[in-house]
Amino acid sequence: MTNLSYCYDLHCHSTASDGTFSPAQLMQRAVDNQVNVLALTDHDTIKGLAAAHQYIEQHHLPLHLINGVEISTYWKSTEIHIVGLNINTASQPLNALLIAQENQRIERAKEIAYKLKKVSIDDAYAQAQIYAQGDIVSRAHFARFLIANGYVKDMKHAFKKYLGKSGYAYVAPKWTTIEEAIAVIHQANGQAVLAHPSRYDFTLSKMRTLIAYFKLQAGDAIEVSQSRQTIDELNILAKCAVDFDLLASQGSDFHDAMNYLDLGKTQPLPQSVTPIWHNWTL
Ligand code: AMP
Ligand code: MN
Ligand code: MN
Ligand code: MN
Repeated sequence: MTNLSYCYDLHCHSTASDGTFSPAQLMQRAVDNQVNVLALTDHDTIKGLAAAHQYIEQHHLPLHLINGVEISTYWKSTEIHIVGLNINTASQPLNALLIAQENQRIERAKEIAYKLKKVSIDDAYAQAQIYAQGDIVSRAHFARFLIANGYVKDMKHAFKKYLGKSGYAYVAPKWTTIEEAIAVIHQANGQAVLAHPSRYDFTLSKMRTLIAYFKLQAGDAIEVSQSRQTIDELNILAKCAVDFDLLASQGSDFHDAMNYLDLGKTQPLPQSVTPIWHNWTL
């Protein structure tokens, strides 16, 4: 039976995707922040997990690492993220899907660079690759290049002006479907979690339509407790979990050091929900 007083953070990113901390640095930071159970959930890759496990073992860290991934999907012209927790990293269908997603990322990155070139921003793909350091290329890497070269002042503007849905260089991705992401997570013996349901710029009604669809496709849980969240938002998401008979997860979605967001810093789940870890043996 799980220790209920543990601090859980079931969503974060390393340099294997668009985080700025290496897997080892992330594990150390989790322990420094008194996190007991951490899921590393890089975008469309599981390549950071081995180094994270190795660091924990080498340094005898008091940390349970959950094998995770955050799969990008496309639903009704919106990019929806599905987190997989406790996945078997050797799963063949999972690895096949991740290779396909990585190939889509490379194609999309080249198209983004082509669009940026049209507005006289040259060499963006090569530059984004440098920021990605050989790991998967994300729009966050393009954003870092745009900021460093003075094209925009911050991440928010990089997405608003260039990379986001209404930006000059937006390219609709060819991600997998919600249905397939859930199926593949289940084939890898994992649990499928709808990531940050309130961060898709949906009305409450459309968000509930998404959650209903996710449930219909056999999704297991939704993220209820996230970083930078009002009590109202927490309660709305808790009610959705209860209404749709879904388990509740929590995670910081930590990417880099910022004073308002950190590993383990989320509000406790409301009593009304069942935590996703209720039957985990750690
Ligand atoms: P990608 O996975 O390549 O589509 O890149 C999306 C990533 O960019 C997200 O996971 C965020 O980490 C980061 N990001 C930062 N600001 C924004 C924003 N305004 N809209 C979308 N993504 C953002
Ligand atoms: Mn990200
Ligand atoms: Mn996400
Ligand atoms: Mn994330």
